[in-house]
Amino acid sequence: LDAIGHHIQEHLSQQPNKTAVIDGDRSLTWAELLSRANRIANRLRERGLQPGDTVAGLSENSADYVALYLAVLIAGGCMVPLSGMANGETLALMINDCDTRWLFVSSRNDSLLTEVTGQLDRVTSEHCIGLDYHPDASGLSLDDWLAGANDQPAPADVSLDSPFNLIYSSGTTGTPKGILHDYRFRSRQIRRMASYGLDGDAINLVSTPLYSNTTLVSALPTLHYGGTLVLMAKFDARGFLELAQQHRVSHAMLVPVQYQRILAVPDFDTFDLSSFRLKLSTSAPLRSDVIAEVVKRWPGGLREVYGLTEGGISTSLDCIAFPDKWDSVGQPTEGSVVRILDDNGQQLPQGEIGEIVGRAGAMMRGYYHRDEQTREMLWTSPEGETFFRSGDMGRIDEDGFLHILDRRKDMIISGGFNIYAVDLEKVLLEHPAVTDAAVIGIPSDQWGETPLGLVVCNGSHPASAETLLTWANERLGKSQRLNAVELREELPRSTIGKVLKRELKAPYWD
Ligand code: ATP
Repeated sequence: LDAIGHHIQEHLSQQPNKTAVIDGDRSLTWAELLSRANRIANRLRERGLQPGDTVAGLSENSADYVALYLAVLIAGGCMVPLSGMANGETLALMINDCDTRWLFVSSRNDSLLTEVTGQLDRVTSEHCIGLDYHPDASGLSLDDWLAGANDQPAPADVSLDSPFNLIYSSGTTGTPKGILHDYRFRSRQIRRMASYGLDGDAINLVSTPLYSNTTLVSALPTLHYGGTLVLMAKFDARGFLELAQQHRVSHAMLVPVQYQRILAVPDFDTFDLSSFRLKLSTSAPLRSDVIAEVVKRWPGGLREVYGLTEGGISTSLDCIAFPDKWDSVGQPTEGSVVRILDDNGQQLPQGEIGEIVGRAGAMMRGYYHRDEQTREMLWTSPEGETFFRSGDMGRIDEDGFLHILDRRKDMIISGGFNIYAVDLEKVLLEHPAVTDAAVIGIPSDQWGETPLGLVVCNGSHPASAETLLTWANERLGKSQRLNAVELREELPRSTIGKVLKRELKAPYWD
């Protein structure tokens, strides 16, 4: 067991002066980061934290947030990173659901904290701590709370079964559920990501929020192996390029919309990005035209990763090595198996479309307090092996590469035909005036459901909705044709760049 709390203490003696975290003007060496983390860990224990207890954090990316995360691990607790994008009601629901007595909040989330105060079951005022050193922050500031805490390392004993963190699903498909990961899950994932070079030599630019699993997948290996994290509290494309150039960044895990925004920076080509060894993309489909641009204009490798916070399924595509597979998410990673099921839970032959299920070395322990929902997501093969149901529709091609078509819930069933939004979106995006597109199913008396295209056009060369409808329908199969196209200013996205189809669909179905 490479327990992270034990392992990282080695960086203190081996590389005390190496930079661990860069957060704007603030930069911490490994000695400084671990001293802070050890103090937080020791204080948490003095104030009653027991192994396995949950500790919630609500903060944008910051050096202190990283220190807190490590501290909770060192103390043997279970970190619960919360999304600042949640509204007060959802936030209170998550804080109560995870059973925490502890809440660390950055000052930027003060108003959200005010909204939930009074609704929390267990968090008391002395366990609610202001995470940053902002002088106006309300409540108890971290520095005051830490006064007199000692910084001697005393990592807790943990086993592979010990809880590591509890992450709430973003709610793009329903009420957030707490996804519990243990050390077995995280150590496997950390090792897999290290095999892509995310290790002690990495300088990793983190521009997605640390409360999302997507971010943790790439940030944790850098911490574990003693690399350097460069943090962005709020993403902006130019700021990303400036930081990448300034700190000679080697790695970044981004979501597709970030690639699009970065490539659109007018003087992108003037930035020196030669330090990049690998970029990763995950969480939503990475378009082939975007891959082509990245490969042409941005030095270093590019790897697309497909996975779920729940784990159990993982594939990856080396975009440089497989230029003819850019519309796939690659092959299962080492130790992973992927299968495709029909509606009756029977395995389908290669090439056919159905629900993607997978098994890997490790997956989540389960949805917290939701055993029934955990069981519903499992499928047992005829050989008795347990697989996780992704809720995604896809197929495996003749070379064993996985193609994602749609979320099962977003699939459009029109007159008995299954329509996959991605096929229609691809055609719309081929039109030169279109910069973004989402296709959703809306009610139809005749067909049950019918596809509607929501399109964002390039401001300087717009096209009319009628032109786009005709253009797309000329290129689509008979059973796939769009019923209508609507022009939009922009499409709603989650903080990690997923199009919020539930939100787009709501007005048509309510
Ligand atoms: P919720 O569970 O509330 O919907 P979420 O969408 O944030 O939240 P995640 O576990 O982060 O949940 O997302 C997993 C999903 O993201 C997958 O099921 C898949 O639909 C999509 N996804 C992940 N990687 C890729 C990829 N490379 N290409 C296409 N889709 C992807």
